[in-house]
Amino acid sequence: MDEIAYLRKQKQEQEEYEALCRRCGACCGAYSGDPCVNLEQESAGKYRCAVYETRIGMQKTVSGKNFACVPIRDLRPNLPFKDCVYYEK
Ligand code: SF4
Ligand code: SF4
Repeated sequence: MDEIAYLRKQKQEQEEYEALCRRCGACCGAYSGDPCVNLEQESAGKYRCAVYETRIGMQKTVSGKNFACVPIRDLRPNLPFKDCVYYEK
């Protein structure tokens, strides 16, 4: 496989993986009482990240606590969010 085909395949796999997300917001603190400041509610039980493309790195919660936003892959296995589609995936 040439490099372009490899990169295309990698991008496609990334998109397929991300499409599995139910956007429940649990990993961004939607049910913690102190969510990330970038978490926006779209509808009942559906959330989005306001800075998704640049999300990785230090962020703050609504109350001002610092934390690192990391790719969900880095939290596996045994995510703390048992209903997450990536739990032990
Ligand atoms: S910055 Fe990270 S933790 Fe905050 S809403 Fe976006 S994805 Fe979630
Ligand atoms: S906990 Fe899992 S399913 Fe819910 S928004 Fe986060 S990555 Fe998506």
